[in-house]
Amino acid sequence: MPPRRKLDPYATIEVADPLEGMRIRLTLWLLPLGAVAALTAWGLSVVSGKLSLPDQFLLLPMTLVFLLLEAYLLRNPQNIRWVWQIALGTIAVYEIFSLYYEAAYKLYQRDGITPAVLWFPMVYLMAFNLLSRRQALRFSLTYLVLGLMAGTIGLLSSPSLNVSSVNTALQFTLSNIVYLSLLYLFAYLRRHYAQMHQMAHTDALTSLTNRRAMQIKLDNELDRARRYNRPFVVLLADLDHFKRVNDTYGHSVGDQVLREAAGRLQQHLRESDSLARWGGEEFLILAPETDLHQAHHLAQRLLEAIRETPMSGVQVTLSLGVACYRQGDTVAALLSRADEAMYRAKAAGRNQVVLEEQLEDVIIPAHTTMPDMQG
Ligand code: GH3
Ligand code: MG
Ligand code: MG
Repeated sequence: MPPRRKLDPYATIEVADPLEGMRIRLTLWLLPLGAVAALTAWGLSVVSGKLSLPDQFLLLPMTLVFLLLEAYLLRNPQNIRWVWQIALGTIAVYEIFSLYYEAAYKLYQRDGITPAVLWFPMVYLMAFNLLSRRQALRFSLTYLVLGLMAGTIGLLSSPSLNVSSVNTALQFTLSNIVYLSLLYLFAYLRRHYAQMHQMAHTDALTSLTNRRAMQIKLDNELDRARRYNRPFVVLLADLDHFKRVNDTYGHSVGDQVLREAAGRLQQHLRESDSLARWGGEEFLILAPETDLHQAHHLAQRLLEAIRETPMSGVQVTLSLGVACYRQGDTVAALLSRADEAMYRAKAAGRNQVVLEEQLEDVIIPAHTTMPDMQG
């Protein structure tokens, strides 16, 4: 018996973050870059004789932290989140400290602002990459408020204030508010897009993959089967006499039966199989790496799963048609063979499985087929 699986309302969303691999590779590039930036800032400040207090104390340890994180990440890519959190914390502390120092000791003496502060908004980017939208916003706002407080205290304690330094402080504040707002907007749109994507690929009643998403999976599986010469099967399952269920028990009971049927089918599939609501009371199963013989067993199991106990008090049966990928197949040809087999199962009395290979030799007793065929 395959592992049982609960019906997941988000079954069509990838469980593992598909960006994780990219995030790890990117971080492996960014950390040395951060180390180089910190080291260069330190070296050039020493050469120009303008090494500020925070730069003097923090830049070299920061370089070391980035390099250690790089070495750690190479060995433990699964702990990417820790790496980001430590890098984030390190940079945030440096930035807030630099802002204070700049405002207290330097700003009144010059136009512009210390290069260290150019990196200030990067912390938002990191936070939005690492945390959920709300967490990132909360973290970034706290960071900005702490930075602004440090800057204000610095400014107030500086020997003097002039228009130029006030202008710089103001531009810094406003530009950071704009960065943060835009970033929040992007994060919001991304979330919204993910929701729309999920809705477009999910059946509202059963939460299964819908027909559109299944079409994509079928196309992909066909490509894979062609390229690697691997088998796969499709099973088309149609609930028997479902119109009668609606007529007898009402449409809402019919809906409930459909939901339960979806759940039961799902429970008997492997993690790698896909189940979709293909039409009203029709389900399509895609089983990769499965031949016709194995598919027959699977189909029998599904048949049994539906008929073993009533759903919402309604005894329901299933008819299944099974077709296996052949060389030179198209999705349409494969589906039409599964459809044909399912139709034969109906014609042969329902509540049974027909394999495509039986199509030629199935003998349909005339008296059982014709009266029922209209459903
Ligand atoms: P057969 O054994 O030949 O498949 O008979 P059938 O009655 O199941 O097939 P038919 O195609 O004649 O009718 C399908 C029924 O499924 C009719 C329709 O009302 C019902 N149905 C389709 N979608 C839904 C739905 O979302 N909810 C409910 N409650 N019923 C649905
Ligand atoms: Mg039906
Ligand atoms: Mg049908």
